[in-house]
Amino acid sequence: ALPVAKADPEIAAAIEHETLRQHEGLEMIASENFVSEAVLEAAGSVFTNKYAEGYPGKRYYGGCEFTDIVENLARDRAKQLFNAEYANVQPHSGSQANASAYMAVLQPGDTILGLDLAHGGHLTHGHKLSFSGKLYRPTFYGVRKDTETIDYDELEAIAEREKPKAIIGGASAYSRLWDFARMRQIADKVGAKLIIDMAHIAGLVAGGAHPSPVPHAHVTTTTTHKTLRGPRSGLVIAGKDYQAGAKPEQTIGKAIDQAVFPGQQGGPLVHIIAAKAVAFREALQPEFAVYAKQVVANAQVLAEALANAGWRIISGGTDNHVMLVDVFRGGAPGGMLGSEAEAALGKAGITVNKNAIPYDTNPPLKPSGIRIGTPALTTRGMKEPEMRLIASWIAKALDHRTDEATLSRIRAEVTELANQFPLYSWRREHATV
Ligand code: PLP
Repeated sequence: ALPVAKADPEIAAAIEHETLRQHEGLEMIASENFVSEAVLEAAGSVFTNKYAEGYPGKRYYGGCEFTDIVENLARDRAKQLFNAEYANVQPHSGSQANASAYMAVLQPGDTILGLDLAHGGHLTHGHKLSFSGKLYRPTFYGVRKDTETIDYDELEAIAEREKPKAIIGGASAYSRLWDFARMRQIADKVGAKLIIDMAHIAGLVAGGAHPSPVPHAHVTTTTTHKTLRGPRSGLVIAGKDYQAGAKPEQTIGKAIDQAVFPGQQGGPLVHIIAAKAVAFREALQPEFAVYAKQVVANAQVLAEALANAGWRIISGGTDNHVMLVDVFRGGAPGGMLGSEAEAALGKAGITVNKNAIPYDTNPPLKPSGIRIGTPALTTRGMKEPEMRLIASWIAKALDHRTDEATLSRIRAEVTELANQFPLYSWRREHATV
């Protein structure tokens, strides 16, 4: 058994059950993935013991010689991976990466313009309950009702009217390509900084399966644990604009460094920075580009198969790793709430999350849609044939959502498929549950 089994049986059992859950089910939450065993090992390493406030070569603590190696490698690899000129690998999460980016280029009370949460945006893009909506004056753009895609002309009109100091691009539930060049034009026209939060698509950008925001944005932020397949964490990078600023000591790059530490955080999580460095190295390998393209191919096949089974995909399909499915059907027969769909699929061993669809008439906790993503299953090695099979199970589970016998039959088939694509090898060596 693992050491924790002796020290703390309750937590050990929870870890083992979670490992089994991850093995036996189909993980289709669009923001999740499976890290490699190497990333897992680095994340669980002795660097968790280390304090390292400051930056490489300029620490407030002794004993940072190996920490500096780790952070320098992580920064260099992040820059190489995204063709960036600046990187800060210390943010603990995507939200803290965003908080740091805003702090670097905005003053409290400044106007920000982000994608509406109800149209796929993230809480940290100006929601009233988030620091971003409390510290800054939030305004929003959205998607068109007819195409369900971002209307850049409308975005431009709102920017001219609201005069934001920052325009924020990026989303948690948007399945189409972004026009970063157009967003930069709009930002320049109104004198705003362009911040792109590429959290969901970072792995696709790294693998060349989505255009990069880095040449266009003043600042690019991301999580590292979604399509990028690293540990749960954050990252801030920038292209040539990192040098913009009134004086050499007041550049965007310097402002981000100060905003991360001491602006938003204390000591960095050095073990997680080590895990990020390992993940970036993995993402630099040619296999990762193959992975990124397969994530998109899988999503497109899945979306098409679900559409053929009669389920409406928001915006008519996907260009990336995620799709929103309208399960409510506007209240028509056969429709259900996203929460009901999530529960039924859960019983069938397929994990997704309920999600609002644009112009949703239902409330956020009982919305009209579900969000489905392919990054995690693609990591397990699943390809187009598995996606067609899974689409048929999803359609069947939705059609028979109150029929427990059908749902448990699907679950048995799901487990059988999952077992053909094993995850962590040590799981079998150490398992006691
Ligand atoms: N930005 C986007 C677009 C996201 O989807 C998310 C997470 O869902 C975040 C930021 C926040 O990341 P974290 O949960 O690490 O704070």
